[in-house]
Amino acid sequence: LNPSDENLSNEELDVERKLRPLDFNDFTGQEQVLENLKIFVEAANMRNEALDHTLFHGPPGLGKTTLAHILSNELNANIKVTSGPVLDKPGDLAGLLTNLNERDVLFIDEIHRLSPIVEEYLYSAMEDYKIDIMIESGPNARTVQINLEPFTLIGATTRSGLLTAPMRARFGINSRLEYYQTDLLTTIVQRSATILKVPITMEAAIEIAGRSRGTPRIANALLRRVRDFAQIKSNGRIDINIAKFALKALNVDAHGLDEMDNKILTTIIDKFKGGPVGITTLATAVSESAETIEEVYEPFLIQQGFIMRTPRGREVTALAYKHLGKIKGNTQGG
Ligand code: ADP
Repeated sequence: LNPSDENLSNEELDVERKLRPLDFNDFTGQEQVLENLKIFVEAANMRNEALDHTLFHGPPGLGKTTLAHILSNELNANIKVTSGPVLDKPGDLAGLLTNLNERDVLFIDEIHRLSPIVEEYLYSAMEDYKIDIMIESGPNARTVQINLEPFTLIGATTRSGLLTAPMRARFGINSRLEYYQTDLLTTIVQRSATILKVPITMEAAIEIAGRSRGTPRIANALLRRVRDFAQIKSNGRIDINIAKFALKALNVDAHGLDEMDNKILTTIIDKFKGGPVGITTLATAVSESAETIEEVYEPFLIQQGFIMRTPRGREVTALAYKHLGKIKGNTQGG
């Protein structure tokens, strides 16, 4: 149930696609972001221009990819999808860019992981819709400049802090996605249940939503796992009892914290006296990469008030002690 999409199987990616909202009306939450995007799209459509380059940032699973697809639909344009780590040569990017039609969308996921050369190559494409390409090789090699159709680059990143300043400056629209409140996630769970044709009670939908780490991807994943339990252990219908039973079996606790969330909190308390502890030290102690902790786990733990970021490192709060049933000061030390 890792909220990042790196470990999803093909089958899971298929289900995810099926559950993806396709237009503005189908998308729940992120109201402020959505309201602005609607205006920008409508204006671009009226002027028959490409939408300004758009950056989405925020933790994984909150809808960045979904919004990129929605924007291309609302613009009545095509979308080409790629990601930072995949584009390792300017030539790969040139191929994609020259194939875009007017007003098309190029979506680059994990845009903070573009190599510096590719990133620089992107600047003139974004700014002037022009790129240089190298033709021929050896002594005849020369570059020619070619014009691109006006297009929209949509970038998504979990780490906007890692984006270079020149890159960031080239996005006219910059939206941050936030974790979802339980009522919105309940709506999302109900919508997904309808698409998956699985009956679910209101109470059960709220229960799943409340334990989803504020993340639609997790809500959908939990719904699918609970559906399995309902099918095998019950009559296929998801009610509160089967939901609770399944969530317990899946090790999801009442706050929706997963095993790694709890491991991080426990480790800070037991091994580092509640903190502060530096991110690298913490990462080693829990055997997870510092990057994943910063991108995936920490934002939610901070938002829920379990962890504080201080200049000297991460500290747990009183709420974390309470959540884990631990008493401050009563630790193993060292
Ligand atoms: P990100 O790109 O931010 O990692 P995605 O856009 O891939 O996240 O969303 C992950 C899953 O969550 C998708 O299957 C999508 O259906 C679902 N999802 C995300 N946001 C919403 C939303 N606002 N309403 C309904 N489903 C959503």
